Amino acid sequence: QGKADGGGQAVFFTVQLGNDVRESRQLLAELQQAPELNQLILYYQPIVDVACPSRIIGFEALVRWDHPVRGLLEPGAFIPVAEAGGVIGSIGGWVLEEAICCLRRFQEELPEELQPVISVNIAAAQFLDAGFENKVIQLLRDNCVHQSALTLEVTESVALVDPARTARVLNRLRKSGVRTSLDDFGTGYSSLSYLKNLPFDTIKIDRSFIQALANTGCRSIVRAILDIADSMNLKVVAEGIETTQQCETVRLMGVEMGQGYLFGRPMPERMAIELLTGGQIPDASLRYG
Ligand code: C2E
Ligand code: MG
Ligand code: MG
Ligand code: MG
Repeated sequence: QGKADGGGQAVFFTVQLGNDVRESRQLLAELQQAPELNQLILYYQPIVDVACPSRIIGFEALVRWDHPVRGLLEPGAFIPVAEAGGVIGSIGGWVLEEAICCLRRFQEELPEELQPVISVNIAAAQFLDAGFENKVIQLLRDNCVHQSALTLEVTESVALVDPARTARVLNRLRKSGVRTSLDDFGTGYSSLSYLKNLPFDTIKIDRSFIQALANTGCRSIVRAILDIADSMNLKVVAEGIETTQQCETVRLMGVEMGQGYLFGRPMPERMAIELLTGGQIPDASLRYG
C-alpha cells in the first residue's frame, strides 16, 4: 500500500483520470440525446407562504434525468457536465418549454385561484444567448401563458458574468411581465453593491444559512439580508427549510415564503396538481424516484 516514492499512486491517478474523462465523455454523448429521447423529467417543489404553509404560491421546476442504466439522476450528476460540455443550451431549452407547457396544463386543469407560478433555473450560457428573452416571451405567447406566471432564477455567478448585460436582459423580461429571482443568495460573490443595479423581484436565501440558523452569526447574516431586501422592495424565499423550528424562526424574522423538505420534496407534475387541489402536504419523508 502506497509506495514511498508515490510512483504507484501517480499511475493510479492517471488511470483513474482516464476513466473519469472517458466516463464524462460518454455521459455527455448520452446527455446530448436525452431531450429527444424523452429522458428528461421535471419535478416540482412547492414554494409556500411560511405563515400558512398549506398555501402554495408556486413551484420550482427541478430537472431529473431518467438514465436508462443509472436510473433517475439528480441535476448535480449531470448539469455541471452539460455546462462544461456545452449542451446546457438544449437541456435548458427543454426545461423552459416543458415548464411553460406545465403552466398551460395548470391553467387548463385548475381554477384561477389555485394556479401557481413556476420558477425555472437558468444557466449562464442560456442567459447570455442573444435570443433568450425573445424565446421566453414567444414560448409564453405560443402557450397562452401569462408572463407573470413564470419566474426565472439565476444565481449570483450567472448574474455577474456580465452585470450590465444581465441588467438589460432582466429589465426587458420584467417589462414584459416575467418575474426574476436571485438564487442561492449569499453563497456567491456576496457583493451587495451590484444588487441595486440588477432588477430582481425576489431573492432566495441559500439553504446553508437556513440550516445554520442556530448559529448567531448566521442569524445576523439572514437579518442583514432581510434588511436589504426590505429596503429594496424584494420578496424573500428561504430555501432548504426542513424543520418546523426553522420555519418558525424565519417567519418571526419576517420571511414571507419558504421552500424545503418540510413543505414537500420535488415531485412529479401529477402530485403537484394533487397537492394544489387536495391542499394536503404529503409526508415530507417521501422521496419520489
Ligand atoms: P437550486 O436551484 O438551489 O434548487 C434547490 C435544490 O435544493 C434542489 O436540489 C432541491 O431538491 C434542494 N432542496 C430543496 N429543499 C431542500 C431541503 O429542505 N433540504 C435539502 N438538503 N435540499 C433541499 P436539486 O433538485 O438536486 O437541484 C440542485 C441544483 O441543480 C439546483 O439548485 C439548480 O442550481 C440546479 N438545477 C436544477 N434544475 C435545473 C435546470 O433545469 N437548469 C439548470 N441550469 N440548473 C438546474
Ligand atoms: Mg433554483
Ligand atoms: Mg437555490
Ligand atoms: Mg443550489
